[in-house]
Amino acid sequence: MRPATLAVHAGREDFEELGVHAAPLDLSSTYPIPDLDEGTASLDALAGGDENAPNAVYSRLRNPTVARFEQALALLEGTETSVAFASGMAAMTACLLAARMRGGHVVAVRPLYGGTDHLLATGMLGLEVTWATVDTVRESCRDDTSLVVIETPANPTCELVDIAEVVRQAGDIPVLVDSTFATPVLQRPVEQGAAMVLHSATKFLGGHGDVLAGVVATSEEHAHSLRQVRILTGGVLHPLGGYLLHRGLATLPVRVLHAQATTQLIAGRLAGHPAVLRTYYAGLPGGDPRGLIGRQMDGAGAVLAFDVAGGYDAAVRFLDALQLITVAVSLGSVDTLIQHPAGLTHRVIEQEARTSSGIGPGMLRLSVGLEDVDDLWEDLERGLRAAANRD
Ligand SMILES: *Cc1c(COP(=O)(O)O)cnc(C)c1O
Repeated sequence: MRPATLAVHAGREDFEELGVHAAPLDLSSTYPIPDLDEGTASLDALAGGDENAPNAVYSRLRNPTVARFEQALALLEGTETSVAFASGMAAMTACLLAARMRGGHVVAVRPLYGGTDHLLATGMLGLEVTWATVDTVRESCRDDTSLVVIETPANPTCELVDIAEVVRQAGDIPVLVDSTFATPVLQRPVEQGAAMVLHSATKFLGGHGDVLAGVVATSEEHAHSLRQVRILTGGVLHPLGGYLLHRGLATLPVRVLHAQATTQLIAGRLAGHPAVLRTYYAGLPGGDPRGLIGRQMDGAGAVLAFDVAGGYDAAVRFLDALQLITVAVSLGSVDTLIQHPAGLTHRVIEQEARTSSGIGPGMLRLSVGLEDVDDLWEDLERGLRAAANRD
């Protein structure tokens, strides 16, 4: 099946047998154990990281509604399986704790999502971190390096990172790609050799601003350790979240491709506007210096950033003037959201790292939704007029 068909039909394979047209939602926190031997064997299998067992035992070990979403997402990413979590940060934490069991050092390439950067920088999980660029990944790897972490497109500068090049430099060390901004519609990192693909499913996968979730698409082998961590640390996804995410997958390609087309138009208009100093979007001329669109990604996506002239005060005037677009963190929703990375999502990052990642006081990040492009542009023009006018 081709991707658009898969998005609609993945995770529905047993519907006819079940006699249903919509996915069942199983809210059980525990499950009857009619046969103790079977219950014990199931508990051992699930606690060891198996995906399935004859008895689900307890909902922290396995939930069939969440499992349905996991199977569907794995089909879209082209991986053996996937493991869902209560949030993107719970997913990232599980990947880092699983890595911790293999070795105490990770290599990470900035810019990363603020929470990920902060989690690594604090050393809270007992991992030592070396910050690398794409070109210094190989020399940053050591005998005890257990994971290389990258994000592409990167948050918030929308810079594209060459996954295949990082994989080549990492050698045997597994590479984790945070692919939240791309979704499997635009990028399937395992095709470039990545071992793990992480999504904040809160964003495009959910798509309607009503689910907090994370997911890691990967091999059965890596999934085993992620499930072990999930069972013990308890960062499980609520079944209602699993239900909504599976439902959202059906429209994912339509949503992402439509929002991307609108983003391309808005990026062009922003780039030509006198009140905008710089527009960050890989779909603009010069925006993809390594030629990754076409080779790694099928399009530049539906998030962009731009610097308004006049710095912080101008950015504040811009946001205050908006009437349609919602000022809020998060992204990938049906409605358009805008936020100020230096003041909000990336506030936790050390000042120096923020500056060197190009996150300035006049930068705004726009996540484009499904509204009409001209309504969005009218609102953005309102913001730009206010940014340029001091009164
Ligand atoms: C939002 C986000 C996260 C964190 O996900 P949560 O669901 O908020 O925990 C991680 N990575 C990226 C790129 C994000 O945008």
